[in-house]
Amino acid sequence: MKADGAVMTGPCCEKDGSSRPLSVAVLGSGAAAMAAVIAATERGAQVHVVERATVGGTCVNVGCVPSKHLVRSAQLQHWCDEHVEISDGCRCDGVPNAHKLHESRQALVERLRWQKYESVLDENPHVTVWHGEASFEDSRTVRVRSLAAQATQTETLLHFDRCLIAVGAEPYIPPIDGLASVPFWTSTEALASDTVPHRLGVVGSSAVALELAQAYARLGSRVTIFARRGLCTRTDPLVGETLMQALLDDDRIRIHCGALVESVQCEDGVFKVTLTTSQAVFMTDALLVASGRRPSTAALDMAAAGVSWHAASGQIPVDTHMRTNVPHIYAAGDCAQMPQLVYVAAAAGTRAAINMTGGEACLDLSLVPWVIFCEPQAAAVGLTEAEAQARGLRTETRTLPITSVPRCIVHGEKFGFLKLVAETPSMRIVGAQAVAAEASDMISTVAVAMRGHLTVADLSGMLLPYLTASEAVKLVAQSFTRDVHQLSCCAG
Ligand SMILES: Cc1cc2nc3c(=O)[nH]c(=O)nc-3n(C[C@H](O)[C@H](O)[C@H](O)COP(=O)(O)OP(=O)(O)OC[C@H]3O[C@@H](n4cnc5c(N)ncnc54)[C@H](O)[C@@H]3O)c2cc1C
Repeated sequence: MKADGAVMTGPCCEKDGSSRPLSVAVLGSGAAAMAAVIAATERGAQVHVVERATVGGTCVNVGCVPSKHLVRSAQLQHWCDEHVEISDGCRCDGVPNAHKLHESRQALVERLRWQKYESVLDENPHVTVWHGEASFEDSRTVRVRSLAAQATQTETLLHFDRCLIAVGAEPYIPPIDGLASVPFWTSTEALASDTVPHRLGVVGSSAVALELAQAYARLGSRVTIFARRGLCTRTDPLVGETLMQALLDDDRIRIHCGALVESVQCEDGVFKVTLTTSQAVFMTDALLVASGRRPSTAALDMAAAGVSWHAASGQIPVDTHMRTNVPHIYAAGDCAQMPQLVYVAAAAGTRAAINMTGGEACLDLSLVPWVIFCEPQAAAVGLTEAEAQARGLRTETRTLPITSVPRCIVHGEKFGFLKLVAETPSMRIVGAQAVAAEASDMISTVAVAMRGHLTVADLSGMLLPYLTASEAVKLVAQSFTRDVHQLSCCAG
């Protein structure tokens, strides 16, 4: 195995010269942990995994996998509703069967959890899995408290040479009056529900909030989103504006920007949501709170091991090698100071394992593409025009509407654009933002181009297949020097 920037050395054993394998404790069994387990055992370590809940962590159980299944099911429903005349053969009766959807979502989760997590751990002779909650006893020992019924509860002490903290994050619950005493949903309950509420209130405008809001609207809910500021406020404003327009095109969705929820009550199954800003009151039948996620570090007693963390965010600061302030203790994934994305968690876990076992690998987070899986998708990579200028770069940008992209025209897309940011005079690409049905593919193409330090001219001259989303990248590059409306159909 060879990771980006990694120098592989080995075999791994303690520096005392003993030939016993290095003992590595991995706290958690999600994406970061699994990547680390695989890399560490390949490099000769003996690994102890501690998991307090379901093996597999967030992504496969209650995150990416079930949410994208729900998004896809809702898209298919929407297609049937909107395009009955051209979707002959996949015509449905207009009423989604939420119970069946839930069953098939759960079946997918269980299949992937077995394939990618449970069987990998079961079949690896160098791994022991401990079911229980981990906390530090000191900087070389973890206590595992089994969470079985009180009478049979056991405690085990695990001594380690190296430890990886990969305990992930959990939903952040904002301090809203009355919230603690009502049966609100987090994303976990929203994904576990086998019913579709008539009215759904959504507190938050995170990627998770928007994806679930649109999915539920497409399955039949009347959805009201309470967004503290606007949508996608950390990127180019055009992203949020366009996504807002697209979401509001569905008359089952309402969005209140600048909405600060003051209090929540629930009587006879009806939620009453009061806003501070306008004192307006909204009634809903379910309430989803999706205002971000905080590291699950509270139970760890990190002070006992001398590990530092940020009091405000709960995140564990790490260097580019995933080391905490304690040299033999590492952290990776959602609990550490890095973007809360599963591919970042996995990359960080692999690098931590290489570094724990005598290798050298650093994680470069200068280029992290992201996607919101609404329809259309919103996605970006690198710098916005404003960020580039704030760094003192001179920039030239072009924005291509999707109405100039053959694939988007053929697919009947209504809302979207691809914006490319180049620095002058080199015309090297430094960023891109997109809203389009397949914005993720456009942005992935730009990410690869940026990794290769390509320029606008390089992209303009590439052969990218006609009628693909990636073709938009070539077209926007060509629009720096030509009017794309004047180009031939497949823009040579
Ligand atoms: C609804 C939703 C949709 C998402 N969609 C996407 C997406 O499309 N793309 C994307 O990139 N990311 C997505 N994410 C984010 C992604 O799921 C996370 O970034 C990723 O799963 C984090 O992995 P991790 O290994 O850091 O933590 P986790 O997978 O959360 O694993 C941490 C594990 O540690 C365990 N644990 C915690 N404390 C202890 C303890 N004291 N002792 C023992 N075990 C403990 C937990 O039970 C958990 O199993 C989504 C998240 C959500 C919630």
